[in-house]
Amino acid sequence: MNMSFGLREENRALLQRVADMVRDEIMPLEEEYQAEIDKGDRWAYTERQAEILEGLKAKARAAGLWNFWLTDSDKGFGLSTVEYAYFAEEMGKTPLGAEVFNCSAPDTGNMEVFERYGSEMMKEQWLKPLLNGEIRSAYLMTEPDVASSDATNVSMSCVRDGDEYVLNGEKWWSSGAGDPRCKVYIVMVKTAGDEQPKHKRQSMIVVPADAPGIEILRPMQVYGHDDAPHGHMHIRFSNVRVPTENILLGEGRGFEIAQGRLGPGRIHHCMRAIGQAESALEQMCKRSLQREAFGKKLAQLGANYDIIAECRMEIEMARLLCLKAAWYMDQGDARAAAPWISQIKVIAPRVALKVIDEAVQMFGGQGVSQDTPLATAWTHVRTLRLADGPDAVHRRQVARAELTKYTQEKV
Ligand SMILES: Cc1cc2nc3c(=O)[nH]c(=O)nc-3n(C[C@H](O)[C@H](O)[C@H](O)COP(=O)(O)OP(=O)(O)OC[C@H]3O[C@@H](n4cnc5c(N)ncnc54)[C@H](O)[C@@H]3O)c2cc1C
Repeated sequence: MNMSFGLREENRALLQRVADMVRDEIMPLEEEYQAEIDKGDRWAYTERQAEILEGLKAKARAAGLWNFWLTDSDKGFGLSTVEYAYFAEEMGKTPLGAEVFNCSAPDTGNMEVFERYGSEMMKEQWLKPLLNGEIRSAYLMTEPDVASSDATNVSMSCVRDGDEYVLNGEKWWSSGAGDPRCKVYIVMVKTAGDEQPKHKRQSMIVVPADAPGIEILRPMQVYGHDDAPHGHMHIRFSNVRVPTENILLGEGRGFEIAQGRLGPGRIHHCMRAIGQAESALEQMCKRSLQREAFGKKLAQLGANYDIIAECRMEIEMARLLCLKAAWYMDQGDARAAAPWISQIKVIAPRVALKVIDEAVQMFGGQGVSQDTPLATAWTHVRTLRLADGPDAVHRRQVARAELTKYTQEKV
């Protein structure tokens, strides 16, 4: 098989421009941006916060550095998924990176859903402002009362009443729903019971975030952090009514859409996690060369050379696996790509967590503090072992693909 993991010549300068903007313009403002969140209402943007974020977005957009995630499309840059991996890695080096270039989760996944499965009306009302970076969105699948790693458990009630659907139930871990700019939710609901086969009972429906009956109960905390103003919200739906045309593709097609949505979203997270690992390794190396103990630079003490080398090697292995999964996606066969995406979905957070943890260690006490980006990065990457499917579910996919080679039976 002839696999290519490279960047086409014409996209190299583009990547460099993204890397330069991340390093020279976004990173220097991150600290001030984070400090602004702590002022006043954490779920509203201060004037300065909005100025920083919207200012950076406007700059990126004016420079044409926008919507790179639209891979293999004439609307974006026509990057392949393999090529996009290099861009996402650069954006992953800083928490604001992806949003500045309008490439952040969960919007990119939701935009793909609107683009692929949405009606003309949905494209006009939701896709257009999302593509322009004017609004944000959330994806609501997980529920507090059921094991949501098995999506056939999703049970939010969605009952047809004339030309409307009525939704009742709770969702949690709805990332991005805390943001005042979040205007629309894509919600996985249950529209049929036992009369339908297991994978035809769930549907996806579009719900405006301000629909009557929606109540944000609380932000979920990740190791004590609320991740404001993005947030991971616990939401209650009480008799929320939306027109029947808000259903995507039709009743019972939720799994089809989820498969299309989650593949790219998962690999994008992995690409950014590799960027976070690279950034942590850079910080670790610089720190180990700057600081001295016992008469030597930290780098020269104990097993620190080995630690640095192991981190470098693991990042390289993870990147190659990520590129291979991306290459499979570029071949257009989602089924063939799936076990590769599952492999990297387990490996990328594992490697990034290890590298960030070693960087924390090299920084001593400061590593776990607010004075470096490492503690926040570790917390974020740790959640990736759960979000978009826990490790165990992905390992199961990998094992099934492996066992299928040796048996005709369903495994
Ligand atoms: C920070 C964060 C952001 C998130 N954002 C979103 C979001 O935007 N939208 C959304 O809908 N959800 C979101 N989630 C939810 C996430 O996708 C779920 O937590 C995840 O799918 C697991 O579902 P669950 O929490 O119900 O765990 P459960 O389904 O109860 O699973 C718990 C554990 O059971 C074990 N397990 C499950 N299946 C298997 C198996 N096949 N084999 C072996 N062990 C297994 C695993 O150890 C697993 O971790 C987010 C989660 C976090 C932490």
